[in-house]
Amino acid sequence: MKAAILSVGTELLFGEITNTNSVYLSQQLNLLGCDVLYHYSVGDNPIRLKETIQTAFKDCDLIITSGGLGPTQDDLTKEVACETLHDELVLNESTMKALEDAFKRMKKTMTENNKKQAYVPSRAIVFDNDAGSAPGFALEENGNTIICLPGPPREMTRLFERKVKPYLESKIDGKIYHRMIRTIGIGESQLETELLDLIDNQTDPTLATYAKEGECCLRIASKRETLEEAEQAVNDMLDLIKERIGEYIYSSDDEDLVEVVAKLLMENNISISCAESCTGGLFAQTLIDIPGISAVFDRGFVTYSNQAKIEELGVKEETLEQYGAVSSQTAMEMAQGVQKASGSRLCISVTGIAGPDGGSEEKPVGLSYVGVIFDDKQVCEEIQTRNVNRKWNRNTTALYMLNIVRKIILDPDYQ
Ligand code: ATP
Repeated sequence: MKAAILSVGTELLFGEITNTNSVYLSQQLNLLGCDVLYHYSVGDNPIRLKETIQTAFKDCDLIITSGGLGPTQDDLTKEVACETLHDELVLNESTMKALEDAFKRMKKTMTENNKKQAYVPSRAIVFDNDAGSAPGFALEENGNTIICLPGPPREMTRLFERKVKPYLESKIDGKIYHRMIRTIGIGESQLETELLDLIDNQTDPTLATYAKEGECCLRIASKRETLEEAEQAVNDMLDLIKERIGEYIYSSDDEDLVEVVAKLLMENNISISCAESCTGGLFAQTLIDIPGISAVFDRGFVTYSNQAKIEELGVKEETLEQYGAVSSQTAMEMAQGVQKASGSRLCISVTGIAGPDGGSEEKPVGLSYVGVIFDDKQVCEEIQTRNVNRKWNRNTTALYMLNIVRKIILDPDYQ
């Protein structure tokens, strides 16, 4: 199935709202194995709306619209979809009854334009909307299908989950199984190079790479006659991929890195404390976002100035003078200071240059040193984000710190 997503509403074109519906619908259609070929956004204009539907049907057999189903004069999606697919609007008794009941419950009078929402194309499969007043529907003609959904994201996603997904699943041959692999420490181009032959020869399972802030994702999907066959095909491919880039994979089930690390710490009852300079508490905050982390997280220091590093963590003045605040020596002394203060099993520190200014040829913006102590092991790792954006550098550095925690716990050879 080849699909287009058509978002209706002049406010989208004015840039007043962010088009989150098309993002959601694209993700969902991809999961169902539909290829999304186009995203269109059109204002509340019936002529352009009709032209866009006709254009989209040249390449696609499915269009999903969102918005423009409401009761007001400028809500025209239903009328235009109905006309373009040569149908007529008829009163839908059950929608009318639901509308009347809803108005009675709200103790409001139903106006004439509200009744407009109870009219649907005569051949439509109606998707009742229990979160709002405008129902969604699917209308088919000569192998083409248009599915019209209301604009408010809460209503649209609820209708999609409950009604549209089962409707589409019944139309799609075969079963889809997919896994989202999350990696860190490998760029998208290197990832693609490592897997080039697999990506080039893909028919089923298919592989798609996505770059996210500080990490890369890889989606493996298979469509087979049965779910078991699809699952087997995906897992076989995953084994192959692990052989090549296993060291960079931190989750094969689309978990966030912080979830993986928090689970590791909590399941193994490893106490942790930290000292942060350039990330300014981001590492601690990210971990503390996870419920239950109090079982293992002891304390975090934000030691931004040299003075704070000396006073709070016992970093030696000579170290700062000789090697600088951004150095492996300072990072290691910071970690030792945290260990002394907290007695935690795992102590981690970071010192770096967040930017945008303050870098030099020898120590460019984005450079950080992470000191980590786990039981008897002490390691210092250099991080280089190769970016001058302050926010990006702080976020990415905190992510890399989480990955260092993961590696030092899991990998006995980590050094
Ligand atoms: P209603 O019955 O509420 O009028 P509707 O189907 O007519 O629903 P619109 O009036 O087009 O929908 O949009 C209602 C609201 O839904 C918008 O003001 C906006 O907040 C949100 N919305 C619409 N389209 C989108 C979109 N593509 N992405 C995110 N939000 C959207």
